[in-house]
Parts: sequence; C-alpha cells; structure tokens
Amino acid sequence: MRYCFAMGLHWFERLAGIDRTLLRPLSAVVDLVYPPGCAVCGVSTGRHRGLCPKCWSALRFIERPYCEVLGIPFTHDLGPGILSAAAIANPPPFDRLRSAAFHDVPVRNLVHGLKYRDRTDLAPMMAMWMLRASDGMVERCDAILPVPLHRTRMFSRRFNQAAELARHMARQADRTFLPATLLRIRRTRQQVGLGAKAREDNVRGAFAIGEGREGDVFGKRLVLVDDVYTTGATVAAAARALRKAGAADITVLTFARALSETI
Ligand SMILES: [Zn+2]
Repeated sequence: MRYCFAMGLHWFERLAGIDRTLLRPLSAVVDLVYPPGCAVCGVSTGRHRGLCPKCWSALRFIERPYCEVLGIPFTHDLGPGILSAAAIANPPPFDRLRSAAFHDVPVRNLVHGLKYRDRTDLAPMMAMWMLRASDGMVERCDAILPVPLHRTRMFSRRFNQAAELARHMARQADRTFLPATLLRIRRTRQQVGLGAKAREDNVRGAFAIGEGREGDVFGKRLVLVDDVYTTGATVAAAARALRKAGAADITVLTFARALSETI
C-alpha cells in the first residue's frame, strides 16, 4: 500500500478543518450520538471519521496500474493506456469505472454503517476517498448522479446511500448534483444472492430519465455514483439509460469494489 497512516491523518485533519467551520454548533450533539472513535471498529481515537492505525493499515485502496476502462488492478505495470482482456472482449456501456477501495473487512464495515446503520456522518470521508479515486473525472464532469433507489425502497430506507456519497462529492468538488434526473422506474429484487445473469435480468429496463430532465444528460460528461460495484449489472443498466439519452461521457465511481481478481 502506497498510502501511509500519516497521509490519512492529513486528509482527516483537512476534513476536520472544514467541519470545524461548518459544524461547530453541532459537534456536541454529534459527540453524544457517535462518541469519537474509529469509524470501523469503534476503538477510541479522539477524532470523528478517522480510522485507528490497525483499521487504516487493513484498508486496500485501488491504485494504478489498472485497466483504464474497468479499473481492474494489474499485477504488473504494462505501460499507460493498457486495457484488460475483459474490457476488450466485453466493452461496458460506460467509459470508465473507478473505485476507491476493495470491498473487504474495514471497507465493508463503512459501507454497512452508511447503508444499514444510518451512519450518514461517514459519507464526507467516503466521498473524499472516492474523489481521489476518480482520477480527476469528478473535477472535469458536468454533473454527478447517484444510482437511484425505487421510491418504495427509498421510503423504507429513508435515504439513498449512493445519493449521500454523490451529494458530498459534488459539494467537495463544487460540481452539479442531480438527485432526480435518473429514476428507477421498476421495483427490482435485491441483487444480493443473485448470480451474474440473474442480476442482469433483474435490472434490465429499470432506469429512465425523469420527465423534462433530458437536458441534464444530453451531451454531458457525467459521473454515476454507487456504493459498491459487484458484477456491475446495476450500474450498466443505469449507464445504458444515460447513454440512450445522449450522455457524452460516463464515469462510474463507486466507494468499494468486490473484486478478487487482479490481472
Ligand atoms: Zn479501527
């Protein structure tokens, strides 16, 4: 891992600096709800959203060399612009995929904390790591959109974790956030537990552009955000809807990537 713990502290200090300005009146309330501790294991660290040294060293960020399209890490640096066999054999319906980290233990805890335990306080830190992993694509995009939930699921879950990440990223990079442009028009089964083919069938035709929102997409460079990339069926279906509506360039950006393979 090329990152060191000190660099991580630097990011957290920067983040803490922003928060101190914006959130000072709220800090006492936040302390009551989430006492300062490691965001993964909870051990006391005296700071919010930081990780303890043990969890920090267990994080595996995804870094170059990787396939320029699918972001799959290469074990050897084959030179700039090299694509994986998978990207050549099966070009995806988006231009590139980037993810911040591998979906193993510390990262899975952060994802679950945000998704199932309402730890929306983790989103700014997670968004910051994604921003870095985007390789400048967020800074150069016209707008950022989350992979949407169907309205019935939104109702039961109260918030969309992808939208939380996208919203914070848009704020940090001063980009346009489009939470209502891409819609999930068909209720789909949970993808968890389904095979690759079943996942693809499950989400086919599930996404559409909201009425009157076509101008948000046509000719635009977009960043499509989700929390975890597994088989890619969901983001592929969402990207197809954006492409059909005339998106000029689509970067898929996820916080975590479930990936065992390197090339
Ligand atoms: Zn920890």
